[in-house]
Amino acid sequence: MNTRDERAANAFVRVRGAREHNLKNVDVDIPRDALVVFSGVSGSGKSSLAFGTLYAEAQRRYFESVAPYARRLIDQVGVPAVDSIDGLPPAVALQQQRGTPSTRSSVGSVTTLSSLLRMLYSRAGHYPPEQAMLFAEDFSPNTAQGACPTCHGLGHVYEVTERTMVPDDSLSIRERAIAAWPPAWQGQNLRDILVTLGYDVDIPWRDLPRKARDWILFTEEQPTVPVYAGFTPEETRAALRRKTTPSYQGTFMGVRKYVLHTFATTQSALTKKRVSRFMAGSVCPACDGKRLKREALSVRFAGLDIGALSRLPLDRLAEVLAPAAAGTLRSEAPTPVRSRAASRQDAAQRVAAGGASHAASPDVRRTPALSEEKRIAAQRIAHEVLARVDTLRGLGLGYLSLDRATPTLSPGELQRLRLATQIRSNLFGVVYVLDEPSAGLHPADAAALLSALDALKGAGNSLFVVEHDLEVMRRADWIVDVGPDAGEQGGQVLYSGPPEGLRRVAASHTARYLFGHDLARTDRHAREPAGWLKLEGVVRNNLDDIDAAFPLGVLTAVTGVSGSGKSSLVSQALIELVAAHLGHEAPVADDEADAPDAPAAPAGTTAGRLAGDTARIRRLVQVDQKPIGRTPRSNLATYTGLFDAVRKLFAATPAARARRYDAGRFSFNVAKGRCPTCEGEGFVSVELLFMPSVYAPCPDCHGARYNAATLKVDWHGRNIAQVLGMTVDEACAFFADEPAVHRPLDLLRLIGLGYLRLGQPATELSGGEAQRIKLATELQRAQRGDTLYVLDEPTTGLHPSDVDKLMAQLEGLVGAGNTVVVVEHEMRVVARADWVIDLGPGAGGEGGRIVASGPPAEVARGAGSATAPYLARALG
Ligand code: ADP
Ligand code: ADP
Ligand code: ZN
Ligand code: ZN
Repeated sequence: MNTRDERAANAFVRVRGAREHNLKNVDVDIPRDALVVFSGVSGSGKSSLAFGTLYAEAQRRYFESVAPYARRLIDQVGVPAVDSIDGLPPAVALQQQRGTPSTRSSVGSVTTLSSLLRMLYSRAGHYPPEQAMLFAEDFSPNTAQGACPTCHGLGHVYEVTERTMVPDDSLSIRERAIAAWPPAWQGQNLRDILVTLGYDVDIPWRDLPRKARDWILFTEEQPTVPVYAGFTPEETRAALRRKTTPSYQGTFMGVRKYVLHTFATTQSALTKKRVSRFMAGSVCPACDGKRLKREALSVRFAGLDIGALSRLPLDRLAEVLAPAAAGTLRSEAPTPVRSRAASRQDAAQRVAAGGASHAASPDVRRTPALSEEKRIAAQRIAHEVLARVDTLRGLGLGYLSLDRATPTLSPGELQRLRLATQIRSNLFGVVYVLDEPSAGLHPADAAALLSALDALKGAGNSLFVVEHDLEVMRRADWIVDVGPDAGEQGGQVLYSGPPEGLRRVAASHTARYLFGHDLARTDRHAREPAGWLKLEGVVRNNLDDIDAAFPLGVLTAVTGVSGSGKSSLVSQALIELVAAHLGHEAPVADDEADAPDAPAAPAGTTAGRLAGDTARIRRLVQVDQKPIGRTPRSNLATYTGLFDAVRKLFAATPAARARRYDAGRFSFNVAKGRCPTCEGEGFVSVELLFMPSVYAPCPDCHGARYNAATLKVDWHGRNIAQVLGMTVDEACAFFADEPAVHRPLDLLRLIGLGYLRLGQPATELSGGEAQRIKLATELQRAQRGDTLYVLDEPTTGLHPSDVDKLMAQLEGLVGAGNTVVVVEHEMRVVARADWVIDLGPGAGGEGGRIVASGPPAEVARGAGSATAPYLARALG
């Protein structure tokens, strides 16, 4: 090789013989220092190549270099199946998180801006006279030094009050006035104890004397008394007088004590969730929800304490810090002329801060509290904060505040936060592996994302991006198209080169959408609404007293730039108001109970009313991309219920009957049939010191999950583990004559999930796959046409051809008379909706209004809508 060839070869990452998951011995050369998009339908193998092979290999090399002792374990579990990879730089993955991040993390902690602000307050804050200077940690609610002692840094305090425990005081105790009591036998037991103790359980709660009510609810005593089960109060009194032998001795526990004790100790997520409903959160009176001790909150900067500063949207924060940061310019450049409004604001802030006697001075930096050293520190830190905040604002996140908890962010917002943090990190020579960075972005925001990616590339990095957005593909330097289809039918690199060359690849679904004139909608007439569901006077986040009307029996798309209020309107206001109307909570399709760490925070309830044809909605289902289960024990067979039918088939075989095996024997969740070593998981976890634990196949059953005796039973020549190993396509053929199994399988196949294995753990499924499984399960139900389906960005993670399959499913639901409301950025979907509600015009305080609503063609003509031009283009 001559030097020129060598140099050219060095500019590439060369992959040979990649076989991870479904990859078919793939050879591919991928350029470095470029924006490379990995495209292909869902399940084609893009992530297996980008994350499973390239990123995993980079990680492995890194681990090897830092932790030689870990080598054996890494070899055992984490080596990607690939012959060789040359020219691979170190890699950083910015993957969208599927799990829920810790509730204590916030925009400030993820971006590390909070630690900079703590430094700012510690070094350059305005301290009240005689208060000692504090360390940066004193400004952190997550440290013992900094946390508010009243709420332990949580920001709210939890109370169990008479109102929460007894929501309806017109009921008697027998009528279950004490809603917080345990259900069933335990609740009866407590009631019988009260009868023995002489309390009247048959009059309305509110008619009991105050003293009796307080004792029942709040006592710390735990008397043990005789209980006469099934006796009336008179019979009990008589029995006590006669000293009849009681049914048993029962111990009483005050209701509040029961709630707190159960919340703290129960092992059951459901029970925990149940009792948390009786704990009312309220803002901590000591710190006003700012989570910090008083000394820390007495320190001000620019007139605000650190809690107040953290609550400002980043756009406002930038304004507030600008004067301090501009101080760096002062030595070199003249002080910028300040507006009178700004001066007035400074003065107001000084008054609020209780400091600064120089009311005439226009500049907070010249107050005595800001010494020269402090001023320089303030300039430096504020300057750095501003630079980072500007990057975040550039990515369209200026409406977020630093104290915003990460669980309330969408995965796309979170990924862009991490991306911004990387841009400021000044790393170079690494490859960033990203997973659909366009998720959650309105087309109008995509330009900012592309320039952020350009910035990283410009700093000398490579970008490997798994992406479905056609605009990002068009802007890429290089496309690696994987396919042609999913699972077994995929796993090949169809094309690797500049985007334009993909045009000639006939087998590529991506090419069809990237270059085709796939007009969204040509033939169909908009359906007529069967009625209207109205929301009136909605107040929630940035929605300030707005009205909205959703047509029933049709498909509605809600659009608007990120932060305009789509989720607030749809996933919060609409869902909460309809759920309240139906008299239930938690309308999520996935029933998996989440154990809360703490009861729901007091923030976040919708004000507003529901009006219109409310009687037409009898059921509410939110179909999201959350996993269909959180452990490897759930999979699509268990979730859809088809596994129950499969187990019945096995239990009915002569072999099973001879051994007296019932259907439970064939469940990997039941002790008698499963492998005892891994308890039916198929995997055992390997703990690594200082690293997240990893999973290795079970040494006894080698992943089969069942014990040897169970595996001896066959149905048509296959045992239960082999059935779980089948793909949906294979199982469709295998169970062709068993309607109870075949019907759900066939639905899964029709929506493009034929490549999934029945036993594939829920934790391995992508969000898009989980969502389609939920929809298939819904389609399988008897359809009465009275359900409202709500989907927030359902196309996230879906290739345009998968989007078409999703649309067919949604059409199916609407066709059966149901109402579907989607929050959506994908204009091909919006163009195919019957009705569009466009929010805006901007984000945060600049948004929250309905800018336009009507059929797509009408909204596309509207002025002042950020969506209109993109929608017009999609309509062709
Ligand atoms: P894409 O990123 O294109 O959606 P993936 O690379 O995630 O596709 O998946 C490709 C194939 O590999 C699919 O058939 C998928 O079900 C399978 N797969 C993905 N993750 C795993 C895993 N952890 N173990 C086994 N198979 C997997
Ligand atoms: P969209 O769905 O259009 O991206 P959102 O409804 O998520 O917009 O956000 C609208 C506004 O409400 C933004 O200013 C956002 O920061 C704020 N917001 C959204 N959710 C929350 C929340 N859970 N807590 C506080 N503010 C929120
Ligand atoms: Zn507090
Ligand atoms: Zn095992």
